[in-house]
Amino acid sequence: MREASAEIGWARRGACRSSDPELFFPPVPSPDQETRAKAVCGRCPVMAECRAYALRAGEREGIWGGMTPQERRRSRFPANWRRPAAS
Ligand code: SF4
Repeated sequence: MREASAEIGWARRGACRSSDPELFFPPVPSPDQETRAKAVCGRCPVMAECRAYALRAGEREGIWGGMTPQERRRSRFPANWRRPAAS
């Protein structure tokens, strides 16, 4: 069995290591907070690993790999999964 620390070993190189954790896990999310967190992710050398981990692990909270929880949930469904309501 693989240890959790090995699973997220890439996190040691994350650009968010020097950021306030509440920027990524805010008590009350806001558009401004999401934009600022995503800007950090945008210059992170391990963004691909972080995003893949969050999607694989089903992380439900926080910004991971430049994605909000809502964006991660949406990404699990094909683009045309939702059909318009019948009229
Ligand atoms: S992609 Fe964002 S959340 Fe993930 S390690 Fe990098 S800065 Fe942190």
